[in-house]
Amino acid sequence: MPFSSEYEAVIIGSGFGGAAMCARLSKRWPGQVLLLERGKAYPLGSFPRSPNDLASNFWSPRDDTSERPRHVARQKSDKGALLGMFDVRSFARMDTVTCAGLGGGSLIYANVFLRPSARNFEQHWPQGLNLATLAPYYDIAQSVLGARTIPPHQNEQDRRFILRTQQFQQFAASQQLPSKLSDIAVYFGHGYSYAGAAQPSEIGLQEKNRYGAVQTSCTYCGECDIGCNVHAKNTTDLNYLHAARAYHGAQVQTQARVNQIVPLNAAGEDDASADGQHGYRVYFDDFAAGSARTVTAKRVVVSAGTLGSNELLLRCRDIYRSLPRLSARLGQRFSGNGDFLAFALDGQREINSTYGPVITQYTDHHLFENHDPERAFLLEDASVPTHAGWAVAALQPVLHPWDRFKMLLSVAWEALASLYPGRKSQRLGSLIQQLLRHDVTQYSAVLLCMGIDKSDGRLQLNQAGFLDIDWPQKTSQPLYDAILALGERFKDFIGARLFMPMPNWLWPMRHNVTVHPLGGCTLADSPEQGVVSGRPEDRGQVFGYQGLYVADGAIVPGALGANPAATITALSEWIAHGITGQQPDDTLR
Ligand SMILES: Cc1cc2nc3c(=O)[nH]c(=O)nc-3n(C[C@H](O)[C@H](O)[C@H](O)COP(=O)(O)OP(=O)(O)OC[C@H]3O[C@@H](n4cnc5c(N)ncnc54)[C@H](O)[C@@H]3O)c2cc1C
Ligand code: SF4
Repeated sequence: MPFSSEYEAVIIGSGFGGAAMCARLSKRWPGQVLLLERGKAYPLGSFPRSPNDLASNFWSPRDDTSERPRHVARQKSDKGALLGMFDVRSFARMDTVTCAGLGGGSLIYANVFLRPSARNFEQHWPQGLNLATLAPYYDIAQSVLGARTIPPHQNEQDRRFILRTQQFQQFAASQQLPSKLSDIAVYFGHGYSYAGAAQPSEIGLQEKNRYGAVQTSCTYCGECDIGCNVHAKNTTDLNYLHAARAYHGAQVQTQARVNQIVPLNAAGEDDASADGQHGYRVYFDDFAAGSARTVTAKRVVVSAGTLGSNELLLRCRDIYRSLPRLSARLGQRFSGNGDFLAFALDGQREINSTYGPVITQYTDHHLFENHDPERAFLLEDASVPTHAGWAVAALQPVLHPWDRFKMLLSVAWEALASLYPGRKSQRLGSLIQQLLRHDVTQYSAVLLCMGIDKSDGRLQLNQAGFLDIDWPQKTSQPLYDAILALGERFKDFIGARLFMPMPNWLWPMRHNVTVHPLGGCTLADSPEQGVVSGRPEDRGQVFGYQGLYVADGAIVPGALGANPAATITALSEWIAHGITGQQPDDTLR
């Protein structure tokens, strides 16, 4: 791609923060905005599905020595580098799962668009920034992302009926807890997702969405967390980024990993003592071309996600020393958003966990109603891809050894009986049916919880100069205990044989896993309190620098309890409004 000598703005990262920013800045400065994204683009049908391709679709570039699971390290040494989607990292007491690709986390997220409780903004947020201030930006983000609840069904035979949703609703009622259908950013047809129609388009119908990108009306396949191959998820490459490119000439470069940001002096030279008034030079690796490159810009917006933005800025401050004025608070107030994954396995009630979009409802455990910050969390249902259902079905011999033994006897008997001349086997169909019935995912549930953890973690660099997380964990134990207690009650409700918190929670591992990392570059009223300004006049700007902004999960000052993408997008809209001075709307024109 030919680069211009100087851009009005360079944006780093294409998740919720970066994509919304790209649409707004490119409208303000058409053709003069460049977005750099380290991952690849995923056009219709390109998300891998075979076990081998999925296993290779991790992120671990050649020179990156971050702590990653052993099998990722092995794959990397076989292939030299892994430049796929799943960025899985292991730290002491906390693992993280994020995404590399055009669209960032939206490619593999569970589609939930949820505003947090107003109570959330009472502590640690800058003065005057709250749910009411952000309401217009949430409205626009929700409209652009096309988030609505799952469409209604006529009866239980209707393909739009999702049994799992019903079971979670019944569980919530049994616990006197409210359950609400989640707004999800899934395409159910232009009319339903964007124009407010009561009825969706036919399942599987392909149409252009309101921004001109081709999407498919959701097929209920349950594969949202490994990338939607029919583009029914309203990922940011199909709305914000599509419009930025189509309407406003934004340039987007994938496979471009930014390594360093350096301020320029009046002569246009790199100068670490400069404050950004003359712009910045951005250094990046172009993985496709196999070369290192640079661009300059008047403004830089860092939207590399909580892990990416903190790592980049920590390296610029402490290793390259190109941004020495960054606040001493950089890396503090990290939160895993109270994430906790668990399973209720092999129950008596049918759940059908391989059907429908991944999350459809949330059960409120003292987050919105009867707010109790010590044990405030949400319980969300989840589907798993059918492939996982087949893999779990392989557990049958372990879970039901007697049934399997009887089946083997049947096969042996059938083989013997077939030796009688003229006897026809009639039992093949029945054997296949026996083998497949009562498959584990049909009677098991995935429990996704998230809540108000203490947000007292710290992001820092390890000795090799890559990101490390210090997660105190014990301070958030009351939250995890409340989640475990509700999980046990869910197990009893469906009559499950086993309640299993995520496997690495077992003693002595005691690891949390988060898919919602937040904080580290927190919004604040002053550099003594945070890294990025939360004041209306210079919102989103990094303290100590002009024209350097952060707009992503890193600026959220603590756990939200709710799924964070809505808040990240709304904050990015709010910051972009400040930078451009232009009132945003959902047409993106
Ligand atoms: C399985 C899963 C399910 C989830 N479900 C939900 C949900 O239902 N609802 C919800 O609200 N949230 C959900 N989340 C979380 C949500 O995806 C994140 O909170 C959100 O994507 C964060 O947005 P962001 O803009 O901060 O960063 P990201 O979306 O992470 O985007 C950052 C981008 O920057 C790129 N990048 C990083 N470093 C560099 C660099 N140095 N140079 C160039 N590019 C770089 C990354 O590749 C990435 O594309 C889920 C996450 C996962 C993993
Ligand atoms: S259920 Fe299937 S078709 Fe629908 S959004 Fe998820 S992955 Fe796409």
